[in-house]
Amino acid sequence: MKLLLLHCDYIRFKALKKALKKVEDLNEEEKKGHEVKDCLVVLTAVEKEDSKESVKDYVSNIKDVAKQVKAKNIVLYPYAHLSKNLGSPDLAVEIMKQAEKDLKAFRVVRAPFGYYKEFELKVKGHPLSELSREIKGEGAEEKVDHDLLLRKMSKVKMSTNKAPKGLKSNIELGRDLDLYIVSEIVGGGLPLFTPKGTTIIRELRNFIEEEEIKRGYLYTKTPVMAKSDLYKVSGHWQHYKDDMFVLNVRGEDFALRPMTCPFQFVLYKRKPRSYKDLPLKYSEIADLFRNEKSGELRGLTRVRQFSLADAHIICMPEQVEKEFEEVLELVKHVMKKLSAKGIWYRFSKGDLKNKEKYIDNPKAWKESEAMMKKILDKLKIKYIEAKGEAAFYGPKLDLQYKDVYGKEDTLFTIQIDFALPEKFDMTYKDKNNKELRPMIIHRSSIGAIERIISYLLEKTQGNLPTWLSPIQIKILSMTDRNNNYSKKIFESLQKQGFRVELDLSTEPMSKKVRDAQLQKVNYMVTIGDKEQKAKTLAVRNREGKVTFGVKLDKFIKDLKKEIDERK
Ligand SMILES: [Zn+2]
Repeated sequence: MKLLLLHCDYIRFKALKKALKKVEDLNEEEKKGHEVKDCLVVLTAVEKEDSKESVKDYVSNIKDVAKQVKAKNIVLYPYAHLSKNLGSPDLAVEIMKQAEKDLKAFRVVRAPFGYYKEFELKVKGHPLSELSREIKGEGAEEKVDHDLLLRKMSKVKMSTNKAPKGLKSNIELGRDLDLYIVSEIVGGGLPLFTPKGTTIIRELRNFIEEEEIKRGYLYTKTPVMAKSDLYKVSGHWQHYKDDMFVLNVRGEDFALRPMTCPFQFVLYKRKPRSYKDLPLKYSEIADLFRNEKSGELRGLTRVRQFSLADAHIICMPEQVEKEFEEVLELVKHVMKKLSAKGIWYRFSKGDLKNKEKYIDNPKAWKESEAMMKKILDKLKIKYIEAKGEAAFYGPKLDLQYKDVYGKEDTLFTIQIDFALPEKFDMTYKDKNNKELRPMIIHRSSIGAIERIISYLLEKTQGNLPTWLSPIQIKILSMTDRNNNYSKKIFESLQKQGFRVELDLSTEPMSKKVRDAQLQKVNYMVTIGDKEQKAKTLAVRNREGKVTFGVKLDKFIKDLKKEIDERK
């Protein structure tokens, strides 16, 4: 809390107009304003770290100064300009009301809170007439128990219910294959990927970026946070704030982004646009943040930070149908490459009665839902309908799946949006130089990388295809005699860019094979005297089939083909 205490001949003040929406109305007496003579004026700013307890220090500071200057009259005057780290208005009012009660030995006048006020005062000018005080709130002096925190750091939260039918969940697979952890000290829903897990992410990103660039997408890189102003334009602040991470730093509100759209729209608006620019397809693998409730967090399926392969297709209304079809084609291609099965379509609609959750623009909702229905019917897509599952700005086509526990989630999504182009005042000029409103398709192509990994892990039970596998090849040396030759093979394969490990341990071969199987490597290359002499390899695939006498060149060639084609 920051105070400026002024010993005055008089102060006159009058409330003019509300500065905050939710403040009490003034009574007739208060509306007239006040004049207090011979008083101690306490300009007060309550800050973030303050609590109800702060009132004690507040009162004792005032009493202390009042005693020194021999003041009988006290004016408690809220004055936000003293701090850039203001606490909540409710707390400030509570503290000042309580102080008024606790200073009952004085005549106290409390200036209204949350109003623009005019005021005039005359400071006496003696040595104690102007004093500033700072009261440290509890929050400012938090004690750190280092040992306790270190113990927390070693705690990994990876326990989970057993999935039915002997299947493993992505949490168990993540742990057993050493792909990611969730640590208590970092927090729930914030997975940390190991080098192996990061390999899967990198391969998926490369895959989707290649596919999108072939289809004319342009990549952007935009910040993970923005000032609240941006979200006020988009409506996130009004409709989505509870799900966001909001930060107040030095008196300014920021939020970590829950979606990429507003950022890419700012880029769209950086110059005038014509119909020749459209469709414009802005893509980004964006780190997004959503404050999911802790009870909802599940492994990689539901997290608080995730990378969404997000894009916004800004187009003319007459282009929406074709663009929608192309997005669907891309999603189908992704599903085919990932051998995704058991996925169904859900047409997610808004609920116009729920004005808190959805943008209040009935015409836009009606038109966009009708357009989506027309496209889905034309493409003969079978879907189920779900009311109240739309994005806050428009309807969605969601591609749904069930995890190993039978719980339903969205894997991919395509959305039609009439509302945000209007909110952002996005325009383009047509052939006749007339300014028109574009439409937007929001879509994810491979979804959230974390969720698609959890889907793939559970579906394959960790048996990822070679192009995605963290370890593609493991070289098993039969005896110490074969170690040097094994090392040479290992180095040749690594130089070619394969992800390869070498096992030179003295364990029996059966144990080495078992270990490699548990790691779900795609190929085991065993090297004994026979292979060393003939300069060949014995290659064992995941199904246990062994091919002897394989030449290194041939092995490399076949494997490259398999990986390049992402089979
Ligand atoms: Zn979007």
